[in-house]
Amino acid sequence: MNSFSFKRARRYFYHALLLRCPYCGITPIFPSLKKTRSLRDWFTPLDGCHRCGYPYEREPGYFLLATWAGSYGMGSLLGLSLYFFFDLKYHPPIFELLLIVLGPIVIFNLLFARHAKALFIAFDHFFDPHEKEGGENDDDDRRSKDPKPATPVAPHAKRSVALQEK
Ligand SMILES: [Zn+2]
Repeated sequence: MNSFSFKRARRYFYHALLLRCPYCGITPIFPSLKKTRSLRDWFTPLDGCHRCGYPYEREPGYFLLATWAGSYGMGSLLGLSLYFFFDLKYHPPIFELLLIVLGPIVIFNLLFARHAKALFIAFDHFFDPHEKEGGENDDDDRRSKDPKPATPVAPHAKRSVALQEK
């Protein structure tokens, strides 16, 4: 069952901060900077993890909450804090105050949007894990390391099986 585990939460959170697949922690969620040619590329996650098959966008509109609550919500908090701080401390003219408040919000949203989505994926995976089969999710530490192919059967083992069949 999916029990609450700080270890698991910390691992997913860490993967999200690195903008990597919450499941394996290796594949990036977003295209690399070299492949980013537009704002759309910057904001749009890849389809999923090619390593473990984790789909980043589970359904259409999946990231709406991440965008609204994460990006815009945090941006608004930042804007309000800046507004009150500068208005109470320096009383600048309204035009300057708007520049001081809106400039950082735009920059913050550009920079934070990817992390908001990555954190949302990690958060969702923590509370509602994707499972290919109903396995225990807490032991997927080994999946973070390089997956190894199954050990081939040694020739003598094959022979002993053949002997048993006789
Ligand atoms: Zn993965």
